Amino acid sequence: MITKELHTSNRILMGPGPSDAHPKVLQAMATPLIGHLDPEFVEIMDEVKEMVQQTFITKNNLTFVVSAPGSAGMETCLVNLIEPGDEVIIGVNGVFGGRMSEIAERCGAKVHRIEKQWGTVVTTADVKAALEKCPKPKLLALVHAETSTGALQPLQEISDLIHNAGGLLMVDAVTSYCGVELQVDEWNIDAIYTGTQKCLSAPPGLSPVSFSERAIKVLDERKTKVQSWFLDLTLVKNYWAGSKRAYHHTAPVSSIFALRESLRLVLEEGLENRWKRHQEVHQVLKTKLENLGFKYLVEEQYRLPNLNSVYLPEGNDEALIRRKLLDEYNIEVGGGLGDFAGKIWRIGIMGESCTLNHVNMLISALEDMKE
Ligand code: PLP
Repeated sequence: MITKELHTSNRILMGPGPSDAHPKVLQAMATPLIGHLDPEFVEIMDEVKEMVQQTFITKNNLTFVVSAPGSAGMETCLVNLIEPGDEVIIGVNGVFGGRMSEIAERCGAKVHRIEKQWGTVVTTADVKAALEKCPKPKLLALVHAETSTGALQPLQEISDLIHNAGGLLMVDAVTSYCGVELQVDEWNIDAIYTGTQKCLSAPPGLSPVSFSERAIKVLDERKTKVQSWFLDLTLVKNYWAGSKRAYHHTAPVSSIFALRESLRLVLEEGLENRWKRHQEVHQVLKTKLENLGFKYLVEEQYRLPNLNSVYLPEGNDEALIRRKLLDEYNIEVGGGLGDFAGKIWRIGIMGESCTLNHVNMLISALEDMKE
């Protein structure tokens, strides 16, 4: 029988997520529970929806929070927009493009993958070439910030290309949201999902999503039922957006409290200030890492400021040092995935973990270990 109280170490989170949470966010999570249909909770849901719209920079009415992590947001977009037999184009330049492609196939889509070397991005030329093979895709899906590589995908020009071909633009913004510029309406993004545990600095487990009028038209014109009951937007939207607030599932009340507080903190700081902070702290981290002999994986112009993918200096055992950082300094950084496993580190400076103090703690620990 386990009788010991729960205990975890006081970690400094500088990996690919989750990031450190603000004490006010953790405090909000400990607010006494209320019912998920309580008028006070309904008001909180309305506030959260409005703050998600503000942080996505969109007026989309169909904006809400999926009660499950980022992967469920990804699945929500794909299961609702795709019907069996649809053709879709998906950019695959890392783990998460691969995951989108896998889900789209399970939805019965014919998937045209734009395969790119990990660490690079999908270009307009790549999209044009894909459109030649698949001139009328239902959608094009891209990962804005590929967490497995640290690459930032430009979206604006590509958005015009897919819309001119009559398709929708779907975007994974799990790692970019609230850390780098992201403009849902301005860039004509039709379906977008994110997570709470990266630059928003809330606990993991929720996925804010948003759908444009074009995407809603596609949903309304579906000929087949959405294969997932839980993620079927026609049902969930009556809970989040309908006037009746019909019961759909029991919302994760405490997580929504924490999300509300994290969104409030983002808006208090200001989105642009937050983007700027991530860029400035990244510059300091970059200089210090390069001085220690680390080398960046991604070309400078496509580099994510908040997720730094770096090769270690020659002759270092990355897993051993990473473990030492955790055990002796309480600092978590991420290892590489796929082909980069054992070769790179992924150093996150996201949200609350994006401070000069975090940079200094990491660099001092690395210097200390060298001695
Ligand atoms: N997409 C990207 C770019 C991610 O980085 C992640 C998680 O790290 C996901 C999707 C999946 O999110 P989750 O792990 O919250 O399900």
